[in-house]
Amino acid sequence: MARYIGSVCKVCRREGMKLFFKGDRCYTDKCSFERRSYAPGQHGQAKGKVSEYAIQLREKQKVKRLYGLMEGQFINTFRKAEREKGVTGENLISLLEKRLDNVVFRLGLANSRRQARMLITQGHFSVNNRKVNIPSYSINLNDEIQVTEKSRKANVFEGSVKSADRRGVPEWLMLDKDSLKGSVRRLPDRDDVTLPIQEQYIVELYSK
Ligand code: SF4
Repeated sequence: MARYIGSVCKVCRREGMKLFFKGDRCYTDKCSFERRSYAPGQHGQAKGKVSEYAIQLREKQKVKRLYGLMEGQFINTFRKAEREKGVTGENLISLLEKRLDNVVFRLGLANSRRQARMLITQGHFSVNNRKVNIPSYSINLNDEIQVTEKSRKANVFEGSVKSADRRGVPEWLMLDKDSLKGSVRRLPDRDDVTLPIQEQYIVELYSK
């Protein structure tokens, strides 16, 4: 599958928000966004009139990139959110939060969603004692996500858990650091995501 291979820090600057692609570095003053919080390129600092469509498109790009989805995957997730009961925008955020790669990142078992995806596809995780190597796998209430026994000694997890202490584990999840096992205490809702996301723009974009 095609993946973006350019500078990920430029993506944060383009989207006007820290998207935390680089693990520890994102929390230091080496973060490019901290130093240059304007869009990259010659016209990055230009201020012009922005159309409604451009605002909606940027918001969609921002959320899509934050969770690391390709366009097709993102549209499919949006259509699923539309079919669910409730508010489509809130459903969308909840579906994105429930992805296994996001849950692994939120638990602190990976330094970024990007790294979580890589570790999952390499077979380092099980859900309810069954190996799962699909990053888009959607977790359910009371699911148990664990680093597989064979992978538990890998340094990568020790380092991730240490640096994740600074981020903290969200209230809807619980982590047992000793066994590298997380569990889902309740399903995430919109209020669990405190990042500046305005999902109504995405709904408006796809409702045209
Ligand atoms: Fe984004 Fe992290 Fe790069 Fe900062 S260091 S610009 S948050 S990827």
